[in-house]
Amino acid sequence: MPDAPLRTWVNSPLARVARLVLGGNARVAMVIGGTVHLSGASRAEFLANPEWVAHERVHLRQYREQGLLPFLYRYLVESARVGYYANKYEVEAREEARRVVQAGGRGPAPAPTT
Ligand SMILES: [Zn+2]
Repeated sequence: MPDAPLRTWVNSPLARVARLVLGGNARVAMVIGGTVHLSGASRAEFLANPEWVAHERVHLRQYREQGLLPFLYRYLVESARVGYYANKYEVEAREEARRVVQAGGRGPAPAPTT
């Protein structure tokens, strides 16, 4: 559902912690459960970036499919094991976001999961 409403939390303290860890200048979006936590970016700035929105939508789906705590746990284990960039959940989000951008911003409806 490319047009499903997105719940955002601007100036999220949780995203701010991540932002400080990253050096303080990064724009951070971090999905926890069904909410995109933002720091360093307004909701409008976030929504104006289709690739960024598509990336975070993948994480929203990952949470939906796996459940909040199971996904959070697997995500953190995967990050500890292979790091952020190679994390399979990040790879999936990056690839989907790239597809959306190549499709002209909005992208096709997500394929049914198998
Ligand atoms: Zn991500």
